[in-house]
Amino acid sequence: MAVIMDGKATSAKLRKEFLEKVSLLKEKGVTPGLAVIIVGEDPASQTYVKNKEKACVECGYYSEKYALPEETSEAELLALIEKLNGRDEINGILVQLPLPKHICEDHVIRAIHPLKDVDAFHPENVGHIMTGDFAFVPCTPAGVMELLKEYDIDPTGKRAVIIGRSNIVGKPAAMLLLHENATVTVCHSRTKDLAAICREADILVAAIGKLEFVTRDMVKPGAVVIDVGINRNAEGKLRGDVNFDDVVDLASYITPVPGGVGPMTITMLMQNTLRAACIQNNITL
Ligand code: NAP
Repeated sequence: MAVIMDGKATSAKLRKEFLEKVSLLKEKGVTPGLAVIIVGEDPASQTYVKNKEKACVECGYYSEKYALPEETSEAELLALIEKLNGRDEINGILVQLPLPKHICEDHVIRAIHPLKDVDAFHPENVGHIMTGDFAFVPCTPAGVMELLKEYDIDPTGKRAVIIGRSNIVGKPAAMLLLHENATVTVCHSRTKDLAAICREADILVAAIGKLEFVTRDMVKPGAVVIDVGINRNAEGKLRGDVNFDDVVDLASYITPVPGGVGPMTITMLMQNTLRAACIQNNITL
């Protein structure tokens, strides 16, 4: 039976560490500050933003929320970002995606100052992830790496297979695993013999967005299985990209959905915001 990798417990532990660091920062007159911008009424986005605000309170950060109407223009949003870029008490700026269709996500991502880009989506930060000299890492792949660390799983020399090549999960996860000396294969919808490639994985990361896609025949006995997916099943329950029940006795470690990678994502946003505050104030903790 696999060890269940507990993202909730790992998150709680890390958030406590951040809270302690924040009290040291506060002694130096600095409180990490995060501005979260949401445009429109998408219910999933509203929940994510609420959870981010809650995490800020839990970690002792200062936060500001900007809930803008759906019809906000791109120019108005860019003007707000510009203002936040210039404010010292705001260390991180997060614009909740997706944005309404009339706003270009790329323009918005590029408008955030790279040192305040706590989602690490700005091309400058993406480049740093490639070269390895990064301060900020996209939150979901960072959460995956942190969970591996928590469970003493060293990727060195291991064969890692990632299913999914998105800019926010698959690609950066591949880079991070490569930096940690794994031998990495990235699969996608055009990959041939997907199951056979997955069966070679010591660490299998599923970031597909398809309910319970990964089944027993795709998993090597003893593999570490990380499920990034968030899907709803026919009963409306949250489930991952991995068929958990099918795989749990075969894997050595596995993340559940919910309670695995999900909680880690917001915790990594807190980590990036703390780093941003330290960098912007020339403080090493
Ligand atoms: P995405 O942008 O839709 O990318 C999905 C990837 O899966 C694509 O690269 C796609 O290949 C690949 N794919 C789709 N069908 C496939 C198939 N049949 N065989 C092999 N590969 C296939 O999704 P994403 O943003 O990376 O998110 C992936 C999942 O993670 C979603 O469920 C999302 O909700 C979840 N997620 C969770 C968190 C979290 O906090 N836990 C954060 C972000 C995302 P192509 O490139 O060829 O189309």
